[in-house]
Amino acid sequence: MSDRDTIFALSSGRPPAAIAVIRITGPRARFAIETLCGRVPAPRRASLARLRDPASEQVIDEALVLWLPGPRTEIGEDMAELHLHGGRAVIAGTLATLGRLDGFRPAEPGEFTRRAFENGKLDLTAVEGLADLIYAETEAQRRQAYRQLKGMLGARAESWRERLIAALALVEARIDFADDVPDDLIGRALDTASLLRQEIRVVLADDRRGERLRDGSVVAIAGPPNVGKSSLLNRIARRDAAIVSPHAGTTRDIIEVHLDLEGYPVTLLDTAGIRPAEDPVEREGVRRARERAEAADLVLWMVDASGTNHRDSLCEPSGGGSAPVWMVRNKIDLIDSASKCEAASRSDDDGMRSYSISALTGVGIDELVSSLAIHARESFELPEPALVTRERHRNALRETTEALDRALREGVAGREDIVAEELRLAGRALGRLTGRVDVENILDVIFRDFCIGK
Ligand code: GDP
Repeated sequence: MSDRDTIFALSSGRPPAAIAVIRITGPRARFAIETLCGRVPAPRRASLARLRDPASEQVIDEALVLWLPGPRTEIGEDMAELHLHGGRAVIAGTLATLGRLDGFRPAEPGEFTRRAFENGKLDLTAVEGLADLIYAETEAQRRQAYRQLKGMLGARAESWRERLIAALALVEARIDFADDVPDDLIGRALDTASLLRQEIRVVLADDRRGERLRDGSVVAIAGPPNVGKSSLLNRIARRDAAIVSPHAGTTRDIIEVHLDLEGYPVTLLDTAGIRPAEDPVEREGVRRARERAEAADLVLWMVDASGTNHRDSLCEPSGGGSAPVWMVRNKIDLIDSASKCEAASRSDDDGMRSYSISALTGVGIDELVSSLAIHARESFELPEPALVTRERHRNALRETTEALDRALREGVAGREDIVAEELRLAGRALGRLTGRVDVENILDVIFRDFCIGK
């Protein structure tokens, strides 16, 4: 450990800013503050010091300095923090001075966190939770990321793994000391395996809520040209995100806005005017629009309630995807109140949820948006918050249940050695989830997502 480089980086945001935090970690962290400040402050206490470049003896800045001796630190080794004035030259001067010290080099992206993982301070699921916390844009994403950072999934996986190891020990005892141990050891091990399989299956049957919350759900506004799709998107986004034009077919590309609906991330797509097209470019636009709309989690199928547009369309709501479809009748400002009621009641016949709005005047938009927020909450967090937030977790858990399936099958056939092997495989799959075993090849992928200084 002590032959490791000492690494440093700007950990705070882009300068210029009021304050910049430079973090230093590694065996020579103490040497760095000694050299720059001329003394080492009391551990874990902020103290004011002048930083000097040792070569020129020039003062670089006055800073709050923290000396954090390991291993009781976030990263598990000696650390230091310099809280400087956040100017570009101050930061550049300090980083350059640190870089000239023997055994020091700038940190790679995610290298601080990687060291914390290697020093056993975080398991892999927590590392991923930390990355998600940094990238979280909405309240619900933040909550999910924080839960994961604090070990919701990691602790669960560890406890499953411990129970698996205990079951495996029973099988091994039976194999090694057949005559001296009770017959029902295998039965007990298989009971545990079956229970674990059930628990993991429940966690996996989550409709991918956690993954979807990380990415945000996609709501596609689809429908014939000129019904007001772009106008609706604009109104909801409250800014000019899409081109509103009286000519059909001008909104060729899909335009999307990212919304924070009461803490839930929702991407709203304005699909190109979906209609049969002659022009190849436009046809491509139509094809893409259909594809995105089909992959959406929810489709808002918009029609012109004033009845001037939707009859000449050859399109039908949905377009083959499995997402629920809500009917949105736009331009109700153009119809009188008698036909409004008629429009509303007609929509209920086919059981499809229906909203009557005017993208122009704003009538009905609040109700539509709050329904979208409720829908997002229900699809992300009910019946309870998800544990699985990435495909990687899902694959590891799936491998675990598959190995348990095989263990249970072989158990019935009385093949104890194969039962033991399958339980071992199940345990290894869980170990990969938290990063306890064979993860070297996936580490680069996971840490690549981090920024420098984290
Ligand atoms: P898109 O092709 O479906 O995206 O439709 P646009 O949003 O480009 O709208 C087509 C035309 O309908 C534009 O001239 C809009 O100003 C108009 N429009 C959109 N929504 C409404 C509405 O609620 N009421 C009225 N009267 N006109 C609307």
